[in-house]
Amino acid sequence: SHVLVLAEDHTHARRVEEVRRDFVANVSHELKTPVGGISLLAEAVLDAKEDPEAVTRFAERIRVESTRLGRLVQEIVDLSRLQVADTLHEPQLVDIGAVVLEAVDRVRVAAEAKSIDLGLATERDLRVFGDGELLVTAVANLLTNAINYSEARTKVGIGARKVGETVEIAVTDQGQGIPAAEQERIFERFYRVDAARSRATGGTGLGLAIVKHVCANHGGEVTVWSEEGRGSTFTMRLPVAAPEVADDGDP
Ligand code: ADP
Repeated sequence: SHVLVLAEDHTHARRVEEVRRDFVANVSHELKTPVGGISLLAEAVLDAKEDPEAVTRFAERIRVESTRLGRLVQEIVDLSRLQVADTLHEPQLVDIGAVVLEAVDRVRVAAEAKSIDLGLATERDLRVFGDGELLVTAVANLLTNAINYSEARTKVGIGARKVGETVEIAVTDQGQGIPAAEQERIFERFYRVDAARSRATGGTGLGLAIVKHVCANHGGEVTVWSEEGRGSTFTMRLPVAAPEVADDGDP
């Protein structure tokens, strides 16, 4: 059985190495686009010195592109950490109501800009054992997508409830929906149904991959229900924190 364990380790190591190599290839491809764009825009600024309006226009686009590049770099770092560790660093008792409120705070400006009505329905005293910062990031990613892939003046709902031994956090939109054939692939890093639309909204293609890894690292999962033209619901399911864990704080 010792030999068997070694063999398993070996295949695991090879798989990790494959994932790492693919990731590096994806990342360099994804970074080249904004970096190339920014340097072209900088050249355009230099060429347009005599035309202050053009300079302002190009400078504004440099600002937008570099913000997106910054977010991309941050998400690449987050995702590579999540891919390496399959456990959580120093998990804590986390209040889901507080996680949802913090995530809603982060997307409020984007929702207001499109006059999207954010509806909240969270049960009280829902707790999971995990990393609050990662959970806020995951919920905020789902909310950001719900806003980005919906028309103005629609509704986005976020709810959290306990179902058996599971905490369910669901984000619902009335947006464009996702074709059935694409619903599995959207959780892969850098996969987008419509690359132009993703880019136009400042997307990086990493949001759902991060959500998937955050859920997995918490011993949970994320699923999608969607119908084209009607909207989508993304549901995170996480194991509820057992009360005895809450009491002694020493799992
Ligand atoms: P992105 O930065 O492109 O939004 P994500 O990983 O968050 O990357 O999502 C991957 C793709 O899944 C998106 O490009 C989009 O095509 C699709 N998608 C995600 N959320 C939604 C949603 N709520 N409604 C419609 N399509 C969505």
